[in-house]
Amino acid sequence: GKKLGQTILKGHKNYDLMLNLQLGIRHSVGKPGSMRELRAGDFDPREKFWTRFPPEGSKITPPHHSIEFRWKDYCPMVFRHLRKLFIVDLADYMLAICGNDALRELSSPGKSGSAFYLTQDDQFIIKTVKKSEVKVLIRMLRNYYRHVCRYKNSLVTKFYGVHCVKPIGGPKVRFIVMGNLFCSEYHIHRRFDLKGSSHGRTTDKVDEEIDEMTTLKDLDLNYVFRLHKSWYLELLEQIKRDCEFLEAEGIMDYSLLLGLHFHYDVSASWTGLSPCSASPKYQRAWSDLRFSKSTRQDRDLTVDGRKPLIRLGLNMPARAEHTARSESDALLASGTQSDKIHDVILYFGIIDILQDYDVTKKLEHAYKSLKVDSNSISAVDPKLYSRRFQDFIRRIFMEDE
Ligand code: ATP
Ligand code: CA
Ligand code: CA
Repeated sequence: GKKLGQTILKGHKNYDLMLNLQLGIRHSVGKPGSMRELRAGDFDPREKFWTRFPPEGSKITPPHHSIEFRWKDYCPMVFRHLRKLFIVDLADYMLAICGNDALRELSSPGKSGSAFYLTQDDQFIIKTVKKSEVKVLIRMLRNYYRHVCRYKNSLVTKFYGVHCVKPIGGPKVRFIVMGNLFCSEYHIHRRFDLKGSSHGRTTDKVDEEIDEMTTLKDLDLNYVFRLHKSWYLELLEQIKRDCEFLEAEGIMDYSLLLGLHFHYDVSASWTGLSPCSASPKYQRAWSDLRFSKSTRQDRDLTVDGRKPLIRLGLNMPARAEHTARSESDALLASGTQSDKIHDVILYFGIIDILQDYDVTKKLEHAYKSLKVDSNSISAVDPKLYSRRFQDFIRRIFMEDE
C-alpha cells in the first residue's frame, strides 16, 4: 500500500535530530535494569535524567556521527510500565524506532507547528511538543497511569515515552512517543479529526484534492455510524469516563480521530474512493463477527484466529450511513438505501490531550466569541468542552437496530 510521509535520509534537515533520538531511545530502552514495582517517587516531575552523548562515545554511550548532544528521559520507570501495560515488546519497540531508515516525517498535519514522525512499521508516532505539553503530561501522569490501568478500553492516546534532545548550541526539542491509531491491516479510506465544535472545522482542501491522506473535520463529516448495541453502550460509557478524566485534568482541545475502512467497493463517484479489495474469506469472517458479537461477552474478539484483534476503537465493525453534508451531497444521498449504507471498519481514539485551558486559550475564547457563537468555537473551558464532545459523540454514533 501507499506509505504515508517522507523517509528521513541523510541530507534531510532533521536527519541529525532523528539520529540523536534513535541513539537516545536505544540507550533508554536498552538500559539494563530490572523491572520493579512502581513507587510514588517514579511519578515525581523531578524524576528526569540527563545523559551526555559525546561523538567519541563514553562509558555508557556509543560513538556517533553528529555533534554532541544531551538526552533527557522523563519518568522512565513509569513509561516502562506503560509499555508493558500496552503490550509493547521491547525489541519491537527498539527496532521500530531505531532501525535503519526507520522514520518517516509527516508533512505537518496539525496547526500547532509540531513535527510528526511515523515508524516504518506504522506502529508508533513521534510528535515534537511544547514545554507546556510535557509539563501537562508529567503533571497528569499518575492519574493517567491509574486511568489506563483501570480501563483497558480507554480511548485516550497511548503514551510510550517522553524525551528531550539538546544538541550543543542548539535548542531543546521535546517529544513524545505514542501509538498510531491507524496501524491496521486494512486500508484507511477516510480520516476525520473531530472536536464537536463547528467554527473553522473544515478542511482547507477543495473536493478534488481530498483523498485518503486528507484529515477531514467536523463540518466535512457526512456519515453517522451504526454500532451493534453492546459496542454502542461500551463506547458511550468509555467516552464518558475518558472525558471525565480529561475534564478533571483541565484538558481541552482534544479530538476524536476517526479512520474508516470501507468494507466493499464503494467507488461510486460521489465518494471519490478507490475500490478496495476485501477477500470473500474476509467478508465471511466479518459477517460471522457481527453475528457473534451479539452472543459473546468477550471484550476482545478475533474470528477463528483468522482476523486481528477487535476491540473498542480497533478493527471495529460498523455501518456508516451517508448523510447530507452539502446540497450536492443531499441530491446524491437521496438514492436507494443500499447506496447510503456501507459496512465499514472503524479505528478511533482521543488524541491531542496535552492542552490545558491556559491564558492563550482563554484569550482565544474571548476574542473569537466577539465574532461568533461562543459555543461553536473549539476554545472553551474543559467542562464545556467535555460536555459538547460527548453530545457530539451521541449524535454521530447510534445503535444498530
Ligand atoms: P493542533 O493543536 O493544531 O490541533 P497538533 O500539532 O497538536 O495540532 P494533533 O492534533 O495532535 O496535532 O495531530 C494532528 C494530526 O496528526 C491528527 O489530525 C491526525 O491526522 C494525526 N495524528 C495525531 N496523533 C495521531 C495518532 N495517535 N494516530 C494517528 N494519527 C495521529
Ligand atoms: Ca489537534
Ligand atoms: Ca495540539
